[in-house]
Amino acid sequence: MSSKILNKFLNESIADLKERGMYNEIDPVQGANGPQINIDGKQLINLSSNNYLGLATDERLKQVAKEAVDTHGVGAGAVRTINGTLDLHVELEKRIASFKGTEAAISYQSGFNCNMAAISAVMNKEDAILSDALNHASIIDGCRLSKAKIIPFNHSDMEDLRQKAKEAVESGQYKKIMVITDGVFSMDGDIAKLPEIVEIAEEFDLITYVDDAHGSGVLGKGAGTVKHFGLQDKVDLQMGTLSKAIGVIGGYVAGKQNLIDWLKVSSRPFLFSTAVSPADAKASTKAIELLMESTELHDRLWENGRYLKEGLKKLGFDIGNSETPITPCIIGDEKKAQQFSKRLFEEGVYAKSIVFPTVPRGTARVRNMPTAAHTKEMLDKALQIYEKIGKEMDVI
Ligand SMILES: *Cc1c(COP(=O)(O)O)cnc(C)c1O
Repeated sequence: MSSKILNKFLNESIADLKERGMYNEIDPVQGANGPQINIDGKQLINLSSNNYLGLATDERLKQVAKEAVDTHGVGAGAVRTINGTLDLHVELEKRIASFKGTEAAISYQSGFNCNMAAISAVMNKEDAILSDALNHASIIDGCRLSKAKIIPFNHSDMEDLRQKAKEAVESGQYKKIMVITDGVFSMDGDIAKLPEIVEIAEEFDLITYVDDAHGSGVLGKGAGTVKHFGLQDKVDLQMGTLSKAIGVIGGYVAGKQNLIDWLKVSSRPFLFSTAVSPADAKASTKAIELLMESTELHDRLWENGRYLKEGLKKLGFDIGNSETPITPCIIGDEKKAQQFSKRLFEEGVYAKSIVFPTVPRGTARVRNMPTAAHTKEMLDKALQIYEKIGKEMDVI
């Protein structure tokens, strides 16, 4: 017999979300998530993926992934600490450390898992975490899991951070204090003020943790936000994902050897969940090798980002203050942004609307993620469609 209470809860919760226009219907992509995608049999220019460098469909990565299946099979077979650590995982970790300019690195099954793993391995209920108000959901959940006191500071507000760090230190209540931030904030494309954050961290002896999911492959000639600012020696934990610019799946934390040694014996997703598959490990390693050999993809990403931004701006759209290729098109009204995205879809562009509570009320937007894999023709076509709908809906 199924639970009546559960049924009631589920039906009411779903109905409530639908009533508030917040129930997300998922569109399955038919085939690969490339610069153009097929949904419902319709071909669309894809401006919604995190596949910044186009590596998710790169032939070189596909080739090494196939080889890894032949030599190592399809699964790691066990958690890392039993015998699921394959030579391919070790190679991947070495490669990540050299990419990030750190002594060592540990890989996890996802970026989300990294934040579940690393924050609670380092922080506990006697500690406090200063967390940017716009930090990613996985950071928030990782902080909660640690049971440390969470002290949010206003987004990128360094005065507020300094003040709260000072209060936390002076209260004498906490054994350790961490400051944690996204490297690149994915809703607006702005970059964390890492030089100031590091300075405040040094002043108050804070542990520094940067989640660089959107910075890796994009900033610092590909090596990320920390490298962009030349702060590799000053950030204690550099966390990143292998699923966005790297194009595969998995996550990592890079830092000093003793940090990585500790995470390998104490972080629970490492101890109790099986590692990524051989094909994933090998493809990620190859992707990082490609990024270290050449900035070609990185340069193309930035060029496409600039092209799209200039085009939208010239048309009269409000593209916010992004400092990265992430290009929001701010519409304002929630319903209008959703309608705008729907019209883009009908005309052949896939760009999702992002509304409250993900972004503040009244700043609803359509977010565009240009990638290295887009051609000028695709971007020109997207711009034409933007122009048509912008005029039709009175946005420009
Ligand atoms: C996407 C994202 C993650 C999660 O990474 P996955 O590898 O997809 O689990 C973590 N942090 C930030 C800031 C992200 O944008």
